[in-house]
Amino acid sequence: MEKFEIPAELAESVRFHGHVCPGLIIGYRAARLAEKTLDLHRDRDEELAAVVENDACGVDAIQWLLGCTLGKGNLIFRDQGKHAFTIFRRDTGKAVRLVFKGQAGASTPEGIALRRKVMGGTATPDETARFEEQKNKRMHYLMTAPAEELFDCKQPGFELPSRARIFDSVVCESCGEVTMEPRLRLVDGKKVCLACAEPYHRGW
Ligand SMILES: [Zn+2]
Ligand SMILES: [Zn+2]
Repeated sequence: MEKFEIPAELAESVRFHGHVCPGLIIGYRAARLAEKTLDLHRDRDEELAAVVENDACGVDAIQWLLGCTLGKGNLIFRDQGKHAFTIFRRDTGKAVRLVFKGQAGASTPEGIALRRKVMGGTATPDETARFEEQKNKRMHYLMTAPAEELFDCKQPGFELPSRARIFDSVVCESCGEVTMEPRLRLVDGKKVCLACAEPYHRGW
């Protein structure tokens, strides 16, 4: 079976993500292409912002390589179900939206059928091996194909997200847990957290 040797440059992203997969490599290539296109360095303190249009494996490579992370607030998830990654540079105001041209997973009818079987636990050892081989070929392709073959470079149709803000914390008058102020709801004159407000929105 054709093996996929993890290249040294990819190793840290794989360690962060936990496994190697085609999706992670798409994110890896997008991060590298963004670096080159915008001439940027890994984010330290929100010099960059990323808007990702999916929450799949590739986003972990964006977080790891570009330093745009959920925790810092400069990774924004806009669920469009697309393998598209937009990177902004605050200092130059430049941005690039990288849209992956192909499909991340198995894209041939045979590949799709194999994937269903493997994921569903009904694949024979032979089918599992064939699935792995196709995946390895695909990862090799994604790692080595010219960037312009993988991505369309576009300008985003949306603005640079504002910097993350820090809000006051307020104690929920129902459960007593501390909540950021913009998430509070007013229920029967009480300031309550979203979890405590929820039941009032259901059923009646
Ligand atoms: Zn993955
Ligand atoms: Zn509460």
